[in-house]
Amino acid sequence: MVKTEIKSEVENVVIVGSGPAGYTAAIYAARANLQPILITGFTSGGIPGGQLMTTTFVENFPGFPDGVLGPELMDLMKAQAVRWGTKLIESDVISIDTNIKPFKLTTLDEDIYSNSLIIATGASANRLGIINEEVYWSKGISACAICDGATPQFREEELAVVGGGDSACEEAVYLTKYGSKVHLLVRSDKLRASAAMIDRVKANEKILIHWNTSVVEAKGNDWLEKIKTIDKEMNQGEINIKGLFYAIGHTPNTSFLEKQIDVDKKGYILCKEGRPETSIEGIFAAGDVSDSEWRQGVTAAGSGCMAALAAERWLSEKNLSKLITREQPDPLKSNSSSIYDEEEVTEETFDINSQWQKGSYALRKLYHESKRPILVIFSSPTCGPCHVLKPQLKRVISELNGAVQGIEIDIDKDHEIAKQAGINGTPTVQLFKEKLLKKQWKGVKQRSEFKEAIKNII
Ligand code: NDP
Repeated sequence: MVKTEIKSEVENVVIVGSGPAGYTAAIYAARANLQPILITGFTSGGIPGGQLMTTTFVENFPGFPDGVLGPELMDLMKAQAVRWGTKLIESDVISIDTNIKPFKLTTLDEDIYSNSLIIATGASANRLGIINEEVYWSKGISACAICDGATPQFREEELAVVGGGDSACEEAVYLTKYGSKVHLLVRSDKLRASAAMIDRVKANEKILIHWNTSVVEAKGNDWLEKIKTIDKEMNQGEINIKGLFYAIGHTPNTSFLEKQIDVDKKGYILCKEGRPETSIEGIFAAGDVSDSEWRQGVTAAGSGCMAALAAERWLSEKNLSKLITREQPDPLKSNSSSIYDEEEVTEETFDINSQWQKGSYALRKLYHESKRPILVIFSSPTCGPCHVLKPQLKRVISELNGAVQGIEIDIDKDHEIAKQAGINGTPTVQLFKEKLLKKQWKGVKQRSEFKEAIKNII
């Protein structure tokens, strides 16, 4: 039975998910004066920004004739959604309750009530589950070649990618920048990637395709050294590699729905044919979470638009929308130039008091001369999680009034420094005080974790 709860703060529409579907829905809902809330996701279901955060060049998104880096495209969509008044909440949704009206969402930090919902939580990268996967995870095995490929341990070494889709092909080509040879392990006798991608793989002399081949075990000492394989005829083999990258598809992020909305047998949300309405009135779905077939950035964006328009109509029909009035018809321009990469500092531009600088010159100077603790983020140019983490770290530093200084090291440019620091994936953050390493984090973490560690040493 549907219960009605009286709440003082009830949103018009809450969008869950921050990929192309979520941000496009937010842009449309915000421009319809619905003042949407967008819950970005944090640790569950991949990183905020979705799958394009772990892609290099997206060459098929209309409007970018020369391609655009996935994380850059997502930064632009986010800036556009925020410019029109979307409120972002950096948290995960733990559960929703569709049995009460307005719907209740429980996040890591609070409960939120909303008259309508748009679920755009996308899908997460699958793992193989081979023997010793956990032992060598981040010590040679990775689900993101684009994030981790530039790590020093992979340079001029043999590497392998598992999968036969566009991701596997793209990652194999990308890894030839760093590895001496890339083995592409395909479990069947064909690639299912797009024709252009297959051509690129086949034209690349550094890629060796192993057809009908599956991986069964990872072996090594401190770091991955080889994999055991098996082919269709049950012949076993071994390949010596220092990196194994998974690109074997995705699973929809729908577990938090706890079967309250109809899903198919793989977990994808079931919608009316070609439409965003789910089995629950007032709840809409967009993007890969409800699309096991097309799964493109542009189709996700299109479905986000449909979901927002459908939600707007539904709210209006039910007389539930509370529209905001804007003081100015056109919001201020977004500061989108700030989302692009900063320049490395030189002897001329270095500033001992600056809160955030980039490059090895700044690191050397601050390491030896600064009286304050320093927070070093090791990033790589195409690392999507680094895009997520950098603004978080800058916010931590600013909230601590510069009691700590931040430095970014691009491991692609400064790979010797990365090697000396023992970096084996990006983002990695190291906290130093008086030349001593106090703490290290790998991957995206909550701001509170960094703050607490810094406060403990100042
Ligand atoms: P796909 O689902 O398209 O491909 C997954 C691949 O992994 C398949 O080749 C599949 O094999 C293989 N696989 C699955 N499970 C296993 C396993 N246990 N062992 C070995 N191999 C396995 O996923 P993608 O991530 O490649 O692509 C998802 C979507 O995103 C697609 O629509 C794609 O076109 C798009 N995309 C576009 C890009 C671009 O345009 N730049 C880049 C990346 C993705 P099998 O074929 O035998 O099932």
